[in-house]
Amino acid sequence: MTKIVSRFAPSPTGYLHIGGARTALFSWLLARAAGGEFRLRIEDTDRERSTKEATDAIIDSMKWLGLDHDGEIVFQSARADRHNEIIDRLIETGHAYYCRCSKEDVDAMREKAMKEGRKPKYDGTCRDKRLTSGVVRLKAPQEGATGFDDMVKGFISIENSEMDDMILRRTDGTPTYNLAVVVDDHDMGVNHVLRGDDHVNNTPRQILIYKALGWDVPKFGHVPMILGPDKKKLSKRHGALSVMEYEKMGYLPEAVTNYLARLGWSHGDQELFTMDEMVRLFSPDHLGNSPSVFDLTKFEWVNGQYMQQADPDRLAGLLCDFLAREVGGEEAKAVSRADFARIAPLLQPRAKSLLDMLEQSRPFIVDAAYLPYDEKAVKKFLTDETKPLIGEIAARIEALPEYDEPSLEDLHREFIEEKGIKFKVIAQPIRVAIVGKTQSPGLFETMMALGREQVLKRMKRAVEL
Ligand code: GLU
Repeated sequence: MTKIVSRFAPSPTGYLHIGGARTALFSWLLARAAGGEFRLRIEDTDRERSTKEATDAIIDSMKWLGLDHDGEIVFQSARADRHNEIIDRLIETGHAYYCRCSKEDVDAMREKAMKEGRKPKYDGTCRDKRLTSGVVRLKAPQEGATGFDDMVKGFISIENSEMDDMILRRTDGTPTYNLAVVVDDHDMGVNHVLRGDDHVNNTPRQILIYKALGWDVPKFGHVPMILGPDKKKLSKRHGALSVMEYEKMGYLPEAVTNYLARLGWSHGDQELFTMDEMVRLFSPDHLGNSPSVFDLTKFEWVNGQYMQQADPDRLAGLLCDFLAREVGGEEAKAVSRADFARIAPLLQPRAKSLLDMLEQSRPFIVDAAYLPYDEKAVKKFLTDETKPLIGEIAARIEALPEYDEPSLEDLHREFIEEKGIKFKVIAQPIRVAIVGKTQSPGLFETMMALGREQVLKRMKRAVEL
């Protein structure tokens, strides 16, 4: 069996959005699941709309998602000579011809055809004129049909009479998209093309070019698009951002690939898949043939699951980078990876994203002197009754021979027994005293994560507020 070679071929006219990333992922999985190769080609032939910035962003996004590619990246714009060489070959072998019809001529032909109830198309006026200049058109077969077995949609066939003698080279000498894609895929050894179904109409046209050249036709698959919850084409207003924006919001890459894979691919009822698992389980047979609906709430849930499972030390590293990148300045310098590693296990069960976790971690990582206190919480819980109690507890904590969780628990139990009060009476006041707000992980875990010195400093400050 020949090795599967698939590819992703984005046009760098914008960042890599969620839909494009999903196409890339499926194509990558198709190759990796079969031990094949995955190639990357940047289709930057539209000089006006393609930018270096978008190209870099696509490459960075792919890296971040872990979609590694084999071989060098191919830039389509660098291959114009090769495209033209193939166009010339098609002319020489009688599979293509020059055409001098003006735009007005072609418009008139189309109109006439429509009036006569035929499909509007170029009528082949220049087919046999043997002209030596003008645009170049494919001499497409007029009879029969062109079909292919789509990996996702099943068998698709179109009558050849429905297809135009498509333009391969424009008046300005530039090769067209359909020609360039075929030549590049062929030269890159691509034998499996998985792409968005906005390209499904191009496929029979591309197959005609393969056939004219006597080249092997790859296997094609077209994945349906992603819709927003309102069933309209997915867009920014549905929360569908570029991949790098999810990184900025503190998503983990494995959560992004997992969620994207589930938009259109399934394996029983399973929701969570590692990349390795997806590579093991992926088959294009399980790609759905109806549009998937983007669900931000579920995406957040998936990310939360990965936050919970992540290695705390890795999260600590990511949080450090995140803090440096998104906040920077003195605050970022004052916090170390070790600080984050200490508190990560505490915050992981509740964190929805790195950003969320960073926010939750703030009370833990700032010095007592800078801890922000929530005004409402202070008013409610740091009262004339509770402050003296906090002061007493601080004194006992200071005197503890061993600062550990069981000792802290004993200390508090003995304290409430002695005073004849419920734990409730001191729990929230202490929490507010040491983290500045009413929510935090378990009180004793929090005390352990903060360390004795910070707990005492914070209690002292709270009593003086
Ligand atoms: N460059 C095309 C696009 O971004 C994709 C071409 C293809 O996959 O064949 O829509």
